[in-house]
Amino acid sequence: MIGTYTLEISYIIASVTFIFGLKMLSHPETARKGNMVAAIGMGLAILFTILFHTRDGQPIHNIGFILVAMALGTAIGWTIAVKVKMTAMPQLVSFFNGMGGACAALISVMEFPHLAHGAETTSMFSGEVLDILLGMVIGSVSFAGSMVAFGKLAEKIGDLRVRSWRYVNILMLLVIIGLVVYIMQMGNIDPVRAMPAVTILVVLSLLYGVSFVMPIGGADMPVVISLLNSFTGVAAATGGFLYHNQVMLTGGILVGSAGTILTILMCKAMNRSLLNVIVGVFGGSSASAAQAVAGTVKEISLSDASVLLSYSQKVVIVPGYGLAVAQAQHICADLAKLLEEKGVEVKFAIHPVAGRMPGHMNVLLAEADVPYDKLVEMDDINPELPNTDVVVVIGANDVVNPAAEDDPGSPIYGMPIIKARTAKNIIVMKRGMGKGYAAIENYLFFDDKTRMLFGNAKDSLQKLVAEIKNL
Ligand code: NDP
Repeated sequence: MIGTYTLEISYIIASVTFIFGLKMLSHPETARKGNMVAAIGMGLAILFTILFHTRDGQPIHNIGFILVAMALGTAIGWTIAVKVKMTAMPQLVSFFNGMGGACAALISVMEFPHLAHGAETTSMFSGEVLDILLGMVIGSVSFAGSMVAFGKLAEKIGDLRVRSWRYVNILMLLVIIGLVVYIMQMGNIDPVRAMPAVTILVVLSLLYGVSFVMPIGGADMPVVISLLNSFTGVAAATGGFLYHNQVMLTGGILVGSAGTILTILMCKAMNRSLLNVIVGVFGGSSASAAQAVAGTVKEISLSDASVLLSYSQKVVIVPGYGLAVAQAQHICADLAKLLEEKGVEVKFAIHPVAGRMPGHMNVLLAEADVPYDKLVEMDDINPELPNTDVVVVIGANDVVNPAAEDDPGSPIYGMPIIKARTAKNIIVMKRGMGKGYAAIENYLFFDDKTRMLFGNAKDSLQKLVAEIKNL
């Protein structure tokens, strides 16, 4: 009895740590601590479950297996997380999210055959069966979808740009729903009889996960990533219902609702409806539909760039994925400090989908100790840009591409952008004329006011800082 109470209390404590941890994650200064707080809560819940959980009065069996599995999982997760490069972090997050989905699906697959022994009702038409089937479907979709997202972020898998593919997806979804209904109305609980339908359901859900993410293209990827994240949370919550386990339920619901809120915010940021993202309606049909680009590309020398920046009143830096690739955040922060010492007002313009994961630029710049109040959201910075002397675009491409506003044929048409072209001068720092994630040409680079400073962002920034110091 004491063990049961201790377990319940540990679950309440763990749930509270999740809530506080999540709250702390909302600010870069407290995020690291928040992660730790929630992890300690989860560790506590796992430890107390092993020590105090009982089933039919019996303590947990197979402790040896559990400990070996935990040791293996910890060793593998730890090694991957320590070794992964910062630029590969988005795909790692997607991979770990997929693992969460797989766990939830496996729980349902393992528990389904036990239904006959434990169910209070004798009919398949019960909340418990629905819960297990939902865990199976959502967990499998989340696992398979996250693996495809992982491949796309690692640039190993391309987009499937077939407009009619959405009909295949809708059909699959309808068959999945039909199968769930079919299994539930099978009458008395008989897992053996239901197994063929359940197997088809799992396979179809895995295929749907692949098929649903495959057509989702460049600019819509952030939305799908946060959606998959919320799926994993919901799938974990179904496990919480199944085991009457409050901590699984709280954890799952928190991930599910946080993921859903993020999905809504991302949809707003991308100016897309969730339905359009899910059924794979792109802004434009293909990159080839885009307008031809007019104008020529002009370069700027280091000395001209340093003079232009040093004698400006206001400079806005637009960081993008290339800044993360070059790991140039520290030298970028040094440039901002140096200019401020010269009396220049410097701000950073943050696009919600810059980089490869939600909040990527915030994390990157926080790592370089850029004060949080210098990071200005897209909607707030855009009105300031016409009065800005120089916008410095560092490794960003899609998030400043005017095609999103001007070219209805463009795959990113409709996506809100940082309106860099409205500034008085634009300096773009990148290695060459490489394209961004959406794989399309950027009109901004051909604009009359734009000058390119070619090179790896870190090298260019180092040289620029040295040049400004020598002025
Ligand atoms: P982009 O991917 O559009 O462009 C990055 C640019 O950086 C490239 O054009 C590249 O040009 C340049 N670059 C790469 N390496 C370096 C380097 N070492 N030094 C200097 N420049 C470099 O980045 P954005 O941040 O503008 O846009 C993000 C894109 O990613 C959007 O399309 C978004 O939808 C998508 N996305 C975002 C996710 C998110 O959650 N934030 C998730 C998934 C996708 P070059 O090769 O010429 O140097």
